[in-house]
Amino acid sequence: MAEYNAPLKDMKLTLNHVARMTELSQKPGFEDASADMVDAILEEAARVARDVVAPTNREGDEQGVQLKDGQVVCPESFKHVYQQYAEGGWGSLQFDPEYGGQGLPFLLSIPVMEMWHSANMSWGLCPMLSQGAVECLDLNGSDELKAKFLPQLVSGEWCGTMNLTESNAGSDLSVVRAKAEPEGDHYRISGEKIFITWGDHEMAENIIHLVLARLPDAPPGVRGISLFLVPKYLVNDDGSLGERNSANALSLEHKLGIHASPTCVMGFDNAVGYLVGEPNRGLACMFTMMNNARLSVGLQGVSISERAYQQALEYAFDRIQGPAVGKKEAGPIIRHADVRRMLMTMKTLTEAGRGIAYDACGSLDFALKADNDEAKSAEQARAALLTPIVKGWCTEVAQEVTSLGVQIHGGMGFVEETGAAQHYRDARILPIYEGTNGIQALDLVGRKTLMDKGAALSALVEEMKADIASVDPSLTAQAKALEEAVIGLDKAREQLLQGAEADQVMPGAVAYSFMMLSGYVCGGWELLRQASAAVRLAAEGDDDPYLQAKQESARFYMAQVLPRWKAFAETLNDGSQSIMALPEEQFSSAWQ
Ligand SMILES: Cc1cc2nc3c(=O)[nH]c(=O)nc-3n(C[C@H](O)[C@H](O)[C@H](O)COP(=O)(O)OP(=O)(O)OC[C@H]3O[C@@H](n4cnc5c(N)ncnc54)[C@H](O)[C@@H]3O)c2cc1C
Repeated sequence: MAEYNAPLKDMKLTLNHVARMTELSQKPGFEDASADMVDAILEEAARVARDVVAPTNREGDEQGVQLKDGQVVCPESFKHVYQQYAEGGWGSLQFDPEYGGQGLPFLLSIPVMEMWHSANMSWGLCPMLSQGAVECLDLNGSDELKAKFLPQLVSGEWCGTMNLTESNAGSDLSVVRAKAEPEGDHYRISGEKIFITWGDHEMAENIIHLVLARLPDAPPGVRGISLFLVPKYLVNDDGSLGERNSANALSLEHKLGIHASPTCVMGFDNAVGYLVGEPNRGLACMFTMMNNARLSVGLQGVSISERAYQQALEYAFDRIQGPAVGKKEAGPIIRHADVRRMLMTMKTLTEAGRGIAYDACGSLDFALKADNDEAKSAEQARAALLTPIVKGWCTEVAQEVTSLGVQIHGGMGFVEETGAAQHYRDARILPIYEGTNGIQALDLVGRKTLMDKGAALSALVEEMKADIASVDPSLTAQAKALEEAVIGLDKAREQLLQGAEADQVMPGAVAYSFMMLSGYVCGGWELLRQASAAVRLAAEGDDDPYLQAKQESARFYMAQVLPRWKAFAETLNDGSQSIMALPEEQFSSAWQ
């Protein structure tokens, strides 16, 4: 069996029946995204992911990356993979045809990206960051900058990076220190950035760094940060590459996982840079890139979960150990109830995460193509609300899924030989980068719930209730379990709004629980929608066993996984009394 096979049936069902792809392809400008075209793209991407990208995952982990004579050297096979990716036009699916893009829905790029990350997450980070850079430049760059840099970024000839973090500025970017001095039509950028993913490499001819820095007269704090485009090689007016800019990888981090993704300390020494967007509005511009990246990181959680599940499933059929209840002979471990519990937990958390991630990304396309302002803001608010849930919840559950992957392998999971440990190690970065999950939780309760007085969440709850009300009778038990959880989420929303009015520390104290509660409920909802589609398709005569399995997934999740919502809802009651909410001087005794 291949190391990775894209779960095309689940991807297509989720695209069409959860994320509304069929409806989207009727929108003006998206006519090319016909069902046949979507199928053809997904099938070819699945082939590339399976045959070209996935075989490099293990090798990349073992070889890692090196810094030689100031140049990052990545595993040899990666260059070939990147070439195939760029030549196949895989990086341009959703971008503007004016810059060489294919003008297809963003949503369509999501299962494709899921495949790259399942196949090789370390490698997939490079195209992921380039895509974020395209989006950021497209939305915020001047026409001149776009004309000069976008076509090669869209085609994949060049790559992009995101340079925010400094040694003193991680979650709190208000203290960024890198400097930008004006000089003629450009700026000179100086400073050091840390943890820069794919900050240097030789897979592409040029690297376009998007860098946060301060202008000389900038006010302190987040309102004094600007965004600059700093190319590795300067670009001449005719588009040819010019001098090497002074933007260099100074060292590489040695990490727990994603060994084949170079995480660089970057030095900018009077490097030539160009302002992107308005002065002092850099963080707002960068947020367009960060929102895209947050959804992508959530999707990475789904990807790595899928890969870990596939590997564990194969092992469970191969490994012979002990007779199962009712059998005399030793047989494969899949016969043991506890192994099935683990596999179903892995499978259903992955499918639920896929549902939430695709659904959120679909809303971005619907916002773009909305017929009126009201529909546009509703879709935007929906995507904004779901973004921290996708990032936070899908990456939290990826820890559990990849850990279960190790567990199913027994001792062979703990040794590196099988590869199960790599997924576990690789997954560990996901709750950390692109805003830690603590920050995602604060975003969900603060900007996404309290700021609009719970309106977007109420709208989502109404959608859930409507789906529950119209469910097929064969799914009544699942719908009932979900209904109770949805009511619980709605109650938590009210508690949060009331608690925040009475006590300003309460939202922070309950934020993580609120995020996890929202994730489990949204996951149940997406699985119910997937199962409803499966019931409909089966009733129409489709006898694919996958449709039966999907209904089984919904049954398992509602009975065995969804009840976790109650524990998170319960912790909301502790809210302002909990240690999280106490002033520093009162809680210090707790650590003694
Ligand atoms: C492998 C890797 C790749 C990365 N790639 C990039 C990249 O390409 N570009 C880039 O710019 N950066 C990158 N980063 C940086 C990454 O985004 C930061 O590490 C992350 O934002 C957290 O910042 P920090 O490490 O300084 O942790 P800190 O901010 O010091 O956080 C430490 C802990 O405190 C918590 N905390 C901090 N502030 C708050 C708060 N206000 N409320 C509640 N809890 C809080 C955090 O949740 C966390 O648990 C990468 C990091 C790694 C490890």
